[in-house]
Amino acid sequence: MLCEFDYQAPADLLKGRVILVTGASDGIGRAAAKSFAAHGATIILVGRTIKKLEAVYDEIEEAGGAQPAIFPLNFETATYKDYGEMAELLQKEFGCIDGILHNAGILGSLTPVDAYSPQVWDQVMQVNFNSALLMTQALLSLMHESKDASLIFTSSSVGRKGRAFWGAYSISKFATEGLMETLADELENISNIRVNSLNPGATRTGMRQLAFPGENPATLRTPDEIMATYLYLMGPDSKGVNGQKFNAQPAKVDVDV
Ligand code: NDP
Repeated sequence: MLCEFDYQAPADLLKGRVILVTGASDGIGRAAAKSFAAHGATIILVGRTIKKLEAVYDEIEEAGGAQPAIFPLNFETATYKDYGEMAELLQKEFGCIDGILHNAGILGSLTPVDAYSPQVWDQVMQVNFNSALLMTQALLSLMHESKDASLIFTSSSVGRKGRAFWGAYSISKFATEGLMETLADELENISNIRVNSLNPGATRTGMRQLAFPGENPATLRTPDEIMATYLYLMGPDSKGVNGQKFNAQPAKVDVDV
């Protein structure tokens, strides 16, 4: 696996770029949205909790970033039609998208496969995988308008090697890796869009706390501390890098989500 966690991003790395971040209201997505904005991008904040998205919007503006946009969407219930409407609106507002970070995700339950609730399974696949597929389908034509576009899918160590009890979460991340590889191969040499996956590694967020309730969060890196690889992949220094699996930090064997 590749890692670029020592990457030093120039201050204006993403100047003039329009970047969409899903799950931008909290955790890693919130940090990524703020970090991309701090490096010059205009951010489209996508998520389900408007109050939290508004707080991120304010933080970006207060820090002197370009005025972001908020696009509320609940991935559990969003339909093909909603993604089509999203594409139409973003086309009118921006004309082109230079980057998407598919980041929103839920854990589901830690349960053996034979006892896993089909309802929870569907919910996890919907939020972690189907939504990213449908949004990508809807927005790809807007990315084709960019001279240098980057599509990042968020993976996990359990999306690269299966682990007991991680059920739908793990399978959703394997599916995400498969989509990344397929799309990267389809777009290779015929577009300006690069497609890669990124495993954040154990990071101090609500999801991590849910998965490992007994863990001391102070032992983990914060989302802000793992942004180097996100910036590398979103910016022009990764031009030509396509179909690769990245890690945002050195792996802690068997304890990453
Ligand atoms: P958090 O739980 O902190 O944040 C998840 C984000 O996804 C929130 O913004 C949340 O919105 C959003 N989200 C959840 N459900 C929906 C939905 N139905 N519709 C729209 N948005 C939704 O998680 P992390 O920041 O930890 O995780 C981010 C990504 O990184 C995930 O894909 C996760 O699998 C992956 N990851 C995380 C690791 C870690 O150690 N933290 C390790 C490996 C991978 P809201 O604020 O409204 O809840």
